[in-house]
Amino acid sequence: MRPNPAKPNSRSEDRIRANVARVRERIAAAARRCGRAASEITLIAVTKYVGCEEIRAVLAAGCLDLGESRPQALWEKAPRLPGSVQWHLIGHLQRNKVRRTLPMVTSIDSVDSIRLAGAIDALGTDLPRPAPVLLEVNTSGDAAKHGFSADALQELLPQLAGYDHLDVRGLMTIAARQGGLPAAKENFSQLRQLRDRLRAQCPPGMRLDVLSMGMSHDLEVAIEEGATQVRVGSALFEGVR
Ligand SMILES: *Cc1c(COP(=O)(O)O)cnc(C)c1O
Repeated sequence: MRPNPAKPNSRSEDRIRANVARVRERIAAAARRCGRAASEITLIAVTKYVGCEEIRAVLAAGCLDLGESRPQALWEKAPRLPGSVQWHLIGHLQRNKVRRTLPMVTSIDSVDSIRLAGAIDALGTDLPRPAPVLLEVNTSGDAAKHGFSADALQELLPQLAGYDHLDVRGLMTIAARQGGLPAAKENFSQLRQLRDRLRAQCPPGMRLDVLSMGMSHDLEVAIEEGATQVRVGSALFEGVR
């Protein structure tokens, strides 16, 4: 019998299911160690490495929050997958791509400039409710990374709070590539401290409850530092293909 190319082989489906279970166990164990409830932490499956067939296996394993870093990839995949998927854009968004991206996503988790925030706000007038977003902070100071500096964000907060069509739910960061887990932990701690400072000065409607931080190799330290969303890609697709 020839393999059906439209269906992933059952071995990769099994593998993905086992990987999702293992990642959920890591989340639960990390939460337990620091006295948090695992239910406070959303697993966002980052699907940039795979196609729709592997994504369907992730959905079958009960993971409905998906993240893509490239808008074009999201445009391509979202229409081919169930409408129940909660898409998060987690990578850089150019302003000329906002109009097409906005209706497809649950949240833009990588708003990295005031100009992008303004562009989303301007188009948000067409939406039934303010556009949910996270503000990306460059906690590592890596020049190659997008995101606000902590100082800039503090200065821009009044302007961001004035955007009526933007629902700023929290902050997002990517840890430093160098320095291993101690450096990542420090970056995550900085993000939480920045959130606490901003919360003290932002209007009551802006609660900044969400902290999106932690990936395959550093999700445990992110949870210790207060992550409410972890973005996991490679650990979910290990051993597939
Ligand atoms: C790719 C990516 C991830 C997932 O990284 P893994 O190490 O594969 O888990 C998380 N966040 C962002 C912004 C990414 O681009």
